[in-house]
Amino acid sequence: MNYQGVINRYRDLIHLPTDIDPVTLLEGNTPLIPVPALAEELGGGFELYIKFEGLNPTGSFKDRGMTAAMTMAKAKGAKAVICASTGNTAASAAAYARRAGLRAIVMIPEGKVAVGKLAGAIAYGAEVIQIPGSFDEALSLVVEISQKSTVELVNSLNPYRLEGQKTSSFEICDVLGQAPDWLCLPVGNAGNITSYWMGFKQYHQLKNTGLPHILGVQAAGSAPLVIGHAVDHPETIATAIRIGRPARGEEALAAAEESTGKIIAVTDDEILAAQKMLALNGIWVEPASAAGIAGLKAQIQTGSINVNQKRIVAICTGHGMKDPDIITSKMTKPTLLPADYDAIEAFILRKP
Ligand SMILES: *Cc1c(COP(=O)(O)O)cnc(C)c1O
Repeated sequence: MNYQGVINRYRDLIHLPTDIDPVTLLEGNTPLIPVPALAEELGGGFELYIKFEGLNPTGSFKDRGMTAAMTMAKAKGAKAVICASTGNTAASAAAYARRAGLRAIVMIPEGKVAVGKLAGAIAYGAEVIQIPGSFDEALSLVVEISQKSTVELVNSLNPYRLEGQKTSSFEICDVLGQAPDWLCLPVGNAGNITSYWMGFKQYHQLKNTGLPHILGVQAAGSAPLVIGHAVDHPETIATAIRIGRPARGEEALAAAEESTGKIIAVTDDEILAAQKMLALNGIWVEPASAAGIAGLKAQIQTGSINVNQKRIVAICTGHGMKDPDIITSKMTKPTLLPADYDAIEAFILRKP
């Protein structure tokens, strides 16, 4: 049978009513791409794979959770959904709400959302509200609204989001035959790290697939889980993880501890360097998505984790096309030449 999305693929393992009709865009089933050259660049001696979640229908992993959250919202008879977003949740909620025939109201921090995400939310027909505040403020507002009205909250506080997102762990185990030794991923509001850990534990119980150590990576300017307290004014170019009060912070710390992994912080420069390394291996991701690789690189360099003979998976959460400004604002301009054979030949034959 043709692929039918994450709910149908893992229906028995997802805690949703079994007779439910999924709201889906056939999310999930993303590739686990081997990157041997990148592993060599990081020192070699281990296997490295990128789970490219940017290839989901709206360009980020948020679609895995949104199919579940929107399926339940529709089943409950909701007429509208709401979320706070650094951008990707907004785009995903907008698209899935459209599929479900519901209104999508999304609240974003003014001026802090990458252009491709805002454009997505608008293109899919969401009602977009900007506030002159942070993601964290937007989240507490939408939580209050959802509590006092019939508008359904689709942030990752919604438990169905995690149910959908955990399917990525199942996919990784299905491809590798077992869990990897380490799983590296960015951490913002911490729903994703929580759902990966849920998924690996569930699959291990069922199929004895083993458990990974989890390396969660925050941006240095917004690293509440590393410094041990909330950050009032989080800053980072990795806007998807620009979050000072992670809603699932406790669960994230528990995942790191139970898995004998850790949560660390990397600088924006390290994130941009990792983004470049990935792109030069053919995988263009948005800055936040490169945090996992940036963290892995830092840990290898300081000898903090032993990767020898290990199998490592890094989750790249969103596509680079979401945030083209990061590249175009600092890129070397394309070379301007006359539309002339000799000039172009000379350019191609020059010694770069
Ligand atoms: C949402 C998001 C994150 C952070 O995920 P959390 O579940 O909030 O920790 C990381 N990268 C991208 C691209 C995202 O959209």
